[in-house]
Amino acid sequence: MTYRGGRHFLQLPGPTPVPERVFQAMNRSVIDHRGPAFGEMVLGLFEGLEWVFGDPAHVFIFPSSATGCWESALANVLSPGDRVLLWNNGFFASKWGEVGRALGLRVEAIDGDWRRPADPERIAARLADDRERRIRAVLVVHNETSTGVTSDIAAVREALDETGHPALFMVDTVSSLAATPYRQAEWGVDVTVCGSQKGLMLPPGLGFCAVSEKALARHRASPGAPRSYFDWTAMLRDNEGGYFPYTPPTTLLYGLEASLALLREEGADATFSRHARHAGATRRAVAAWGLRNYCQDPKAVSSAGTTVMVGDGEDADAFRLVVLERFDMSLGTGLGPLKGKVFRIGHLGDLNELTLMGALAGVEMGLKMSRIAHEPGGLSAAADFLAEA
Ligand SMILES: *Cc1c(COP(=O)(O)O)cnc(C)c1O
Repeated sequence: MTYRGGRHFLQLPGPTPVPERVFQAMNRSVIDHRGPAFGEMVLGLFEGLEWVFGDPAHVFIFPSSATGCWESALANVLSPGDRVLLWNNGFFASKWGEVGRALGLRVEAIDGDWRRPADPERIAARLADDRERRIRAVLVVHNETSTGVTSDIAAVREALDETGHPALFMVDTVSSLAATPYRQAEWGVDVTVCGSQKGLMLPPGLGFCAVSEKALARHRASPGAPRSYFDWTAMLRDNEGGYFPYTPPTTLLYGLEASLALLREEGADATFSRHARHAGATRRAVAAWGLRNYCQDPKAVSSAGTTVMVGDGEDADAFRLVVLERFDMSLGTGLGPLKGKVFRIGHLGDLNELTLMGALAGVEMGLKMSRIAHEPGGLSAAADFLAEA
């Protein structure tokens, strides 16, 4: 590999660019994870995380990817044979279902249209049919990163409440947290799953399970699925003092402390409107190019990433390769059945308007170079939008 001037554009809806201040915070000596300085730091992290998630009873931090926390969420409150209802409208939703099946759960998926958000009415109808109350949990992905479709979690909650069904409500916020408003307590979510490398602007390596009192009570009352590393009981006991039952990734936790500070400095409303603005500019560009947004519901378009369709017979991955080699920018690939048919523009985490414009310029030049049918003018449409916004 030879040196390339400038910096790499990591334009994915995760992992996302890590701010300089986070890297600097991580560039420290490792300390004793059973000493007082460490415990104090971690207690501060819990407070910050409770703010980000919207007042859960506790936030578990696991040294894992978010996938580990899908497993932790399920294994600590559900036992083999338990039924769960999954809204399946994308690659990540279906993966969560697979984790459930591997744990011996009976995962009943409602196969939704991948181009649309979760339908609260259909979820409620299924729960209303469940007269014996055998469904133990309802699983929804907040922002389906593969498709760029965001579901309305508050609306799903309302629909659940109308049925009076006691199922736990579990939500994957891996690519929505710190990009889109999220209020765990207000929306009555029992377990929220997240990871470090997306809206939280950290390197990969931390997973989170934010839990309600109801989830903790269910955890204490049910045997759950076999688990050890991802168990909540030992974690909760040690977390009291800011400690872990095993060696935590000290360095990443310093980074988390810094990223939480950055989010507080910017302010939640400013963070969300920055993401919405970048997403809006991206959609203007896509429309001007004459390309189609994979998301078909204008109310469900994602603030984290935009999934863009290419024409029949065109290869989105060949286009992505041109952009990578020529402009040193990584765009997201099509996942699962969308492979080759879409590319994804990430506008998540630490970026500003000029970074976004650079990314969109790379896309526009790449479209030209790879002969993907499109109209000119996406870049100036985005510039007009940002100048007005
Ligand atoms: C990235 C992502 C995941 C998986 O996260 P890992 O850290 O790779 O395990 C799960 N759900 C959604 C919605 C994601 O975007």
